[in-house]
Amino acid sequence: MSSQATPTLSLKGIGASPGVAVGHAYILDRKRVRTPKLRLAEAEVDPERMRMKTALDLSDRQLSELKEQITRSEGPEHGLIIEAHRLMLHDPMFVDEVNRLIVEDRINAEWAVRRVARKLKHLFDNIPDEYFRERRSDVEYVADRVVRNLMGQVVDEEVSLPDHAVVVAHDLSPADTAMMARSGRVAGFVTDLGGQTSHTAIVARARSTPAVVGAGRASEQISPGDLVALDGTRGLVLVNPTEDQLALFHETMRRHAEMEARALEAKDLPAQSTDGFRIRLVGNIEFPEEISSLLSHGAEGIGLYRTEFMFLDRKSPPTEEEQYRAYRQVLEAMGGRPVTIRTLDLGGDKVPGKTKHEKEPNPAMGLRAIRYCLANRELFRVQLRALLRASVHGNMRMMFPLICGMSELREARSELEACRTELGRAGVPLGKRFQVGIMVETPSAALIADRLAQEADFFSVGTNDLIQYSLAIDRQNRDVAYLYKPLHLSVLRSLKNIVSAAKSAGIPVAMCGEMAGDPIYALVLLALGFDELSMTAGQIPTVKGIIRESSRADAEQLLETAMELTTAEEIERFIRTEMDRRLGEQP
Ligand code: PEP
Ligand code: MG
Repeated sequence: MSSQATPTLSLKGIGASPGVAVGHAYILDRKRVRTPKLRLAEAEVDPERMRMKTALDLSDRQLSELKEQITRSEGPEHGLIIEAHRLMLHDPMFVDEVNRLIVEDRINAEWAVRRVARKLKHLFDNIPDEYFRERRSDVEYVADRVVRNLMGQVVDEEVSLPDHAVVVAHDLSPADTAMMARSGRVAGFVTDLGGQTSHTAIVARARSTPAVVGAGRASEQISPGDLVALDGTRGLVLVNPTEDQLALFHETMRRHAEMEARALEAKDLPAQSTDGFRIRLVGNIEFPEEISSLLSHGAEGIGLYRTEFMFLDRKSPPTEEEQYRAYRQVLEAMGGRPVTIRTLDLGGDKVPGKTKHEKEPNPAMGLRAIRYCLANRELFRVQLRALLRASVHGNMRMMFPLICGMSELREARSELEACRTELGRAGVPLGKRFQVGIMVETPSAALIADRLAQEADFFSVGTNDLIQYSLAIDRQNRDVAYLYKPLHLSVLRSLKNIVSAAKSAGIPVAMCGEMAGDPIYALVLLALGFDELSMTAGQIPTVKGIIRESSRADAEQLLETAMELTTAEEIERFIRTEMDRRLGEQP
């Protein structure tokens, strides 16, 4: 399999989703294609128009197929969006203008398409209506397809992904990652950009697909079809490994499978420490299809359902009915176990898939999560109505993301109440009231946790963001990924403050950030007193194993000593050494 003739290349990145994988590289290039700009001789004009026509016909066929697929899987209203793209291919404003530029300005078809697209987008820019302004991205989408077809490039990658592919890309949108991971054909992911808590990493973990992110120039250094071995635990990528290296990877894969099987044997036992402290271990999901994996790993409920993922790989938001069906499906599948559904966390790095969102200068600090919802009320209301209607089908809790202050919580709650009243008046069955909590994921919320606990029914700590904002490090930026330290004293102090505020107010406190599922932090979280930890399915058995072997009193001692130290490195070294001493090597 490996080619001894080709030298092995070793790349170091960030281990984003544990496990090892071996497969052939599939290079996914979602970057905008660089448009060639050529002047034509007179004799080249007619052939260029023919080339344009061929590309238009091909685009038309592709869109017809896509429309059929989407109509089948998502319903006719989505098929209509693709139909609108098809119509653009026949629109004289587009086609005639491109042909005019080819003939009169004697420029190549790719360049002409880009110029016409720019002009059309500009027209949309000046339309006051937001819906029509958004159509700019449709122009871009269609133009990109035509240009790729002119250049003979692959257009709809999802169709052509081979089995056991290691997908290599400069960057991947959460929608792309989810779509590919769902296809069941991906052995692993390698991306140039990204950090451990970028959503690409989260989706990969949710699917138990090994991933290395922040791997420098991997997408340039790896060629299509190269044999790639990746270690998503250590952040290592070997391109064209030697026979010996390959044998080691296969051995590690075998050991991982064995460890997983052992951990699963204890999946139905409670996560209770040796001195009787019980923690509820629940799961994080992005899509309803992940539930079977959660249940088979022993999840006692869902602690975080990231509903925004339903919005990402499509052009228009899901309707109230579609959302209702998805929430109902999740609640019913969990059969009375608690399910915490988070309202939309759009914005930041999660912008609706194929529509290009207007770029914010600093998206992490911008209009995301609850801010986005409060600024887009109708979108928010549609979700709240769907949730209220679905709540009768199971044991639902709901929470708002990125709450920074009490006013936001009150405003979001009053929007929920308004929707409840509206539905009640219309005679819609609503069932009993459910708990409404907040995600504590900003330093601001952590500092006023005592006040927020008076009006929130529960807390769920989102450490991915809490750490990002506390330590001022962009979770997407690999240059500062080394500063991402869950055991930084400031983070530990924040967590302590949040838990103690929740306990004083008598409300439950959970953690659903990535810190919750990393075995290395299990004793710290046991000591802090979290009632619930929410993680991806594959992490549950290991964390449960650790809690069952440990005593809370011992964990509290450990934490107390750790918090006397000062630097994040000292604390981490101490915790790692102690964890190894107590538990031996973890998977
Ligand atoms: C978090 O911030 O820790 C969290 C769970 O939310 P997300 O990763 O979706 O931002
Ligand atoms: Mg968050």
